[in-house]
Amino acid sequence: MKMTKAICPGSFDPVTNGHIKIFERAAKIFDEIIVGVFSNIRKTPFLPIDERLSLLREATAHIKNLRVDAFDGLLADYARQSGAGVIVRGLRDQNDFFYETSQMMMLKHMAPELESVYLVSEKEYAYLSSSAIREMASFGASIEGLVPPCVEVAIEKKLQKDN
Ligand code: ADP
Repeated sequence: MKMTKAICPGSFDPVTNGHIKIFERAAKIFDEIIVGVFSNIRKTPFLPIDERLSLLREATAHIKNLRVDAFDGLLADYARQSGAGVIVRGLRDQNDFFYETSQMMMLKHMAPELESVYLVSEKEYAYLSSSAIREMASFGASIEGLVPPCVEVAIEKKLQKDN
């Protein structure tokens, strides 16, 4: 039997309910999902890599065929090393579409055997982004219902510590 392993790559800084929904949908389509967290995406991330990983693990504990892993370097290399044949990305709007097509053409150039699959965001998540969450939280707006409860708690703690 052919097993399909797929990677959901991203920085997840922090993970939102929009990401979780994409993972849940992907986990129904593919046999195994790896959430691949870019560990070197920004010089100073909002949340350090270890915290992003542990929050992702807690928030995805209900998805049995999913594991969370960190990686740096090229996604093409990481996919080869982990034996994944598919990359899953979420699409919110036309901006995501333009960004993703150029990114994935480069990926196809580097790894022609890899396929990219796009899941269009459900409308209640289409406006949600990690950057909006960071901004809302830092100005004191409520992020309840937009992120998993463990993320809400972690951000609250971080902001108390920073102030
Ligand atoms: P990156 O660091 O690559 O910009 P993110 O960590 O923000 O990515 O997101 C990872 C993936 O999840 C991307 O494919 C992104 O388009 C998708 N995504 C982010 N937010 C949402 C959302 N609200 N609904 C659907 N997909 C989303």
